[in-house]
Amino acid sequence: MVIGIVKETQFKRVAIAPAAKSKLEKLGLNPWIESGAGVTAGFTDLMYEENQFNIASRSEILSSAEDVIFGLDKFDLNVVSMDMVPRTTLAQAMDVLSSMASLAGYKAVLKGADHYNNMFPMMMTAAGTIPPTKVMVLGAGVAGLQAIATAKRLGAVVEAFDTRAAAKEEVMSLGASFVEVEGAADDRGAGGYAVQQSEEYLQRQRALVQERALKSNIIIATAQVRGKKAPLLVTEETISNMKPGSVIVDLAASTGGNCAFTQNNATIVRNGVVIIGNSDLADELCGVASTLFSNNIINFLQMAVQNGSLNLSEENEIIRSALISKAH
Ligand code: NAD
Repeated sequence: MVIGIVKETQFKRVAIAPAAKSKLEKLGLNPWIESGAGVTAGFTDLMYEENQFNIASRSEILSSAEDVIFGLDKFDLNVVSMDMVPRTTLAQAMDVLSSMASLAGYKAVLKGADHYNNMFPMMMTAAGTIPPTKVMVLGAGVAGLQAIATAKRLGAVVEAFDTRAAAKEEVMSLGASFVEVEGAADDRGAGGYAVQQSEEYLQRQRALVQERALKSNIIIATAQVRGKKAPLLVTEETISNMKPGSVIVDLAASTGGNCAFTQNNATIVRNGVVIIGNSDLADELCGVASTLFSNNIINFLQMAVQNGSLNLSEENEIIRSALISKAH
C-alpha cells in the first residue's frame, strides 16, 4: 500500500519524518513524498531518499496514494483527521493536539522572554540585586503546564489559574502557585475538559487576574473551552494598568484570545504592553514538531494497518472519532 505525504501549504512541519521508514516498512507501507516537503523542517529530499522514500511530484502522489491521504476530501477517500483523535489514555501516543500544545507552551515562554527587557532568574551582583521575573499562566492544560515548567526552569516566580480542580495539584507539583477562584462550574462530567463558566464567575476571575497582572511581568494565556470562544480574562482596563514593558503571549488567539486586544497572528503594543497573538507557536519548532507529528501518525497507522492493508474498523473508538470521511 502506498502512503503519500504532500508538502504542507500553511505550515513548516512535515507529516512523516525520514526516521519513520523502518516502522512504515514493518507495516507493509510504501511511502511516497512530495519533493521538498520536509525542507522547512530540516529534512532534505536526500534524507528521505536514503531512507527509501519515493520522491515524487504532488500530482503523482495524489494519484498514487489511493488509500490514505491526510487532509484531502474531494475524492472518494477515507479521511483521517488527527485532531479528532480522542483525548484518552489509550490514544495518548497519537494525540497531535497534545504534542503541538506542549511545544507551543515551551515556545511561548521563550517568546515572552525574548520580548521582555529583563531577565528571568533572581541575580545578586555587586552592582545590585535583580528580582526574579513574575510569570502568570492562564489555563493549566497541556500548553499551560509546559509553560509553567519552562518558566520555572528559567528561574521565574510562577503562578497559574485554571477552572478545573484537577489542575491545582499539577500546577503545584511544578513548583508554581495556584490562584483559586471560588465557585467554578462542576466539570466532572466533561471527561477532563473545562466547561464554560458563568458570567458572574468570569467577572470575579477577571478582577483577580487584574490584581495579579499588575504584579506580573509576563502573562502566558492558554485558557480555552473546547468548541467555544476563549474566555476573556485580561481586560482593556487590566492592560491599561499593567506595567509598561510587560509581555502577554496569547496562545488562545485563534479562538478569540484571552486578552481584549489580542490580534491573531500579530504582535501589537498597547500601553507599553507587548501582546503576541499566536496559536501555532509549535510551527516555529518545526523540526521537533515534525518528529512528534510523524510519531503520532505512525502510532495511528500501527493501529489502523494490518498486513499492509488499511483496516478502519469503526468498532475501534479512536478510529471512529478520527475518521471524518469514509470511502463508499
Ligand atoms: P485546552 O487547550 O482546551 O484549554 C487549556 C486550559 O484552559 C484547560 O486546562 C482549561 O481547563 C483551561 N481553562 C478554560 N477556561 C478557563 C478559565 N476561565 N480560566 C482559566 N483556565 C481556563 O486544554 P488541553 O490542554 O487540550 O487539555 C484539556 C484537558 O484534557 C486537560 O485536563 C488535559 O490534562 C486533558 N488531556 C488528556 C489527555 C489524555 O488523557 N490523553 C490528553 C490531552 C489532554
